[in-house]
Amino acid sequence: MLIVMDAHATAEQIARVCDEIRQMGYQPHPMPGPTRTAIGVTGNEGAIVQTSRISSLPGVIDIVRITKPYKLVSREFKEADTIVRVGDLPIGGPGVVVMAGPCTVESRDQLFASARAVLAHGATVIRGGAYKPRSSPYSFQGLGEAGLRLLAELRQELGVPVVTEVLDTETLPLVEEYADILQIGARNMQNYSLLRAVGRSHRPVLLKRGFAATLQDLLLAAEYILVEGNRQVILCERGVRSFDQHSRFMLDLGAIPVLKALTHLPVIVDPSHAAGQADRVIPMARAAVAAGADGLIVEVHPDPAFAVCDGEQALVPHRFAEMMQQIERIAAALGRPVLGRSPQPTHPA
Ligand code: PEP
Ligand code: MN
Repeated sequence: MLIVMDAHATAEQIARVCDEIRQMGYQPHPMPGPTRTAIGVTGNEGAIVQTSRISSLPGVIDIVRITKPYKLVSREFKEADTIVRVGDLPIGGPGVVVMAGPCTVESRDQLFASARAVLAHGATVIRGGAYKPRSSPYSFQGLGEAGLRLLAELRQELGVPVVTEVLDTETLPLVEEYADILQIGARNMQNYSLLRAVGRSHRPVLLKRGFAATLQDLLLAAEYILVEGNRQVILCERGVRSFDQHSRFMLDLGAIPVLKALTHLPVIVDPSHAAGQADRVIPMARAAVAAGADGLIVEVHPDPAFAVCDGEQALVPHRFAEMMQQIERIAAALGRPVLGRSPQPTHPA
């Protein structure tokens, strides 16, 4: 249920409505908007009866029933796009944001070389896993805290935010200390205790779609984070399992417009894990931007043949540069800048 307050409702009137909701045994979620505040209600299992207890309060102008199983993430709840702010970087606004870097942090040299290469072409967030969710327990599991320290050094020296995966609730306090954005990987999308824990964090969260998850599963997973109080969530389509084996995963491009209609949260795309092979990453990146993605997260490695993890899908820096040029033109056709790119002249001299 959503309670719409009058544009002139006072702070006291909003607080009074929140109190009444609590007394009824539910949780209020006030959401100030550009013109008025709306108050979301969660905690009810069925329809809320006795709505007159709220509709009769001063300042309340409407009560809207939310028909979807997810509430706080839905457009019904909040019409305006959520802009997730990472420092000065707005994710989910008109600008397209590109996050890039290696699959995993291997060494200082490798991390800094990847970061410098992608920053030169307009990446605005550096990715790199310190804790890796590997299908095999015998594969490289990440540098752990040493990897986090390298990411922190990078942020300090190059002044760029970093996104890194948090695998479990035990390491969350540590990862939270170092990361600007907490990544929840596809394999953990339905790890509800982890979702609730990052929901209590003050860091933005990048939530990747599980590879057998429906969009409703994804939105309900995001709801776990928002209901704990953290509204800074970015959704990421990264490909789903398909009957065909031609790609590592099948990028669900159709998910982009559907998610954009169902939720106010930013939606970005990971073409690297979907494609699984470097030569297919750029076409998928172009398609994602054309379909309305708010950003991309792309794996780039200075020397993919020597990559410890996911080398086959890593772009070399000059291919990343080509990708950036191409998506910039596609984004421009849609009236969107690619953040981090200096404006290109329309008529070359
Ligand atoms: C990653 O981003 O490195 C990763 C492991 O992705 P996913 O969780 O989508 O497989
Ligand atoms: Mn990877």
